Amino acid sequence: MRVFKKVDEIKAYLRKQQNKGKTIGLVPTMGYLHEGHQSLIRRASAENDIAVVSIFVNPIQFGEGEDFERYPRDIDKDMQAAEGAGAMIIFAPEVREMYPDGYKTYVEVKDITEVLCGASRPGHFRGAATAVLKLFNIVRPDKAYFGRKDAQQAVVIKRMAEDLNSDVDIVVCPIVREDDGLAMSSRNIYLSGEERKQALALSKSLKMAGNLIIKGERNAEKVKKAIHDMISENDLAAIDYISVVDVETLKDVDRINGRILIALAVKFGATRLIDNLTVEV
Ligand code: AMP
Repeated sequence: MRVFKKVDEIKAYLRKQQNKGKTIGLVPTMGYLHEGHQSLIRRASAENDIAVVSIFVNPIQFGEGEDFERYPRDIDKDMQAAEGAGAMIIFAPEVREMYPDGYKTYVEVKDITEVLCGASRPGHFRGAATAVLKLFNIVRPDKAYFGRKDAQQAVVIKRMAEDLNSDVDIVVCPIVREDDGLAMSSRNIYLSGEERKQALALSKSLKMAGNLIIKGERNAEKVKKAIHDMISENDLAAIDYISVVDVETLKDVDRINGRILIALAVKFGATRLIDNLTVEV
């Protein structure tokens, strides 16, 4: 496995590989890799000649007062985890390398970035889309792999790729969970023992909602209320949002029909967790 920190160097290396006909799969991450990231890397490695993992805690997708400074970082462990999952290349640039002095350009995807997580994290998706497009231009992957864990991000990146005529094929992969159901996240490490227990309410309430729909419930308000009530039983949980939306437009739906996304964000102290469920009726 090779590690690159400089844009010019990884570009030169990958262009040579591409000239030899090698295909490239990119997995953009912020590091502190877990089984969720590794599932993406494995798939990228299986479907391409070269799996590239980027590790970059992207400052411009963090809002003021968010956890950019304290976001967990462990590059040595990440290198092992990435290599173990089949990565051939790591790209781990410094912030200055991605955003040098004089940097001025940002990618703005309208509307679908202003709801759900975008409502409480203004600028988040602008930052994420900008970093991802830069990575697409640096790596020029055939395919890029994203987790459904960040369902809105996947929708935004797909929209961006289509709108800007990108050739990158966006692959969205299933959510990987702990044995008890908690969606894996680098941020889970922030949780205290009690918060970790209560955080189970996210996946449990989504499962319950899925069962309600299987049993015939079609009223989105009722589904949201049932989720709300279940999560609210936990005194450390502060609900940011619970939404039932169309999977592509991310617009609220009243009636559950077709493919819908049930998405939620809940804070435990300073830790904001997200989870979601896609349902097809
Ligand atoms: P992050 O490092 O949190 O920015 O995540 C990098 C990529 O890994 C994103 O596409 C995430 O959606 C994906 N990812 C994070 N957690 C999971 C998970 N539990 N299951 C599947 N994909 C995940």
